[in-house]
Amino acid sequence: MQNGAGKLMKIGVLALQGSVIEHIQCLQKIEGVQVVEVRKAEQLSEIDGLILPGGESTTIGKMLREYRIIEPLRDLIQSGLPVWGTCAGMILLAKDIVGQDEVYLDVLDVSVRRNAYGSQLDSFQSSAVIHKLAEHDIPLTFIRAPYIEKCGPEAEILLILDGNIVAVEQDNILATSFHPELTEDLSFHKYFIKKIS
Ligand code: GLN
Repeated sequence: MQNGAGKLMKIGVLALQGSVIEHIQCLQKIEGVQVVEVRKAEQLSEIDGLILPGGESTTIGKMLREYRIIEPLRDLIQSGLPVWGTCAGMILLAKDIVGQDEVYLDVLDVSVRRNAYGSQLDSFQSSAVIHKLAEHDIPLTFIRAPYIEKCGPEAEILLILDGNIVAVEQDNILATSFHPELTEDLSFHKYFIKKIS
């Protein structure tokens, strides 16, 4: 897939901590995409979209502040940079984190609960059809996952699983509680790329 200028589409993966390699491997399977590992604010101006991977939101959030990426990234998201947060990435995007005063990018109109499934359901697999993305069952991998407790009017719900909101979209922002990069299914990666083109 190519953008308007006929060039490769440059997709950044925030490469500070977490499931970075897995996202890169998925993107490399999609034609026309060039992957950039983003570690510095200066790189943000070179990319057409950015994936915030899963990992530990407190660690990634701290590094975003220390490396002075958080403010320029927030500004770019607010002016339309497409972003997709998976798991910890969803927490980084949220405007509210249940039981926590500190928020990070503060752009996604949701209230998110960290480690929402508790220790018993710490990690689990499921699947669902999300008509907006594809007609087949998409495998869903949850690892110490958050879910969205409240979704504000700005965000659109893409998937409710067992009564919990686990995927949303808000204009240029996509967020999932689960990890599509840990499955063989590229539906979410392709959907994100399609949003940009
Ligand atoms: N529990 C982690 C957090 O709160 C998220 C887990 C994940 O990204 N797989 O940041």
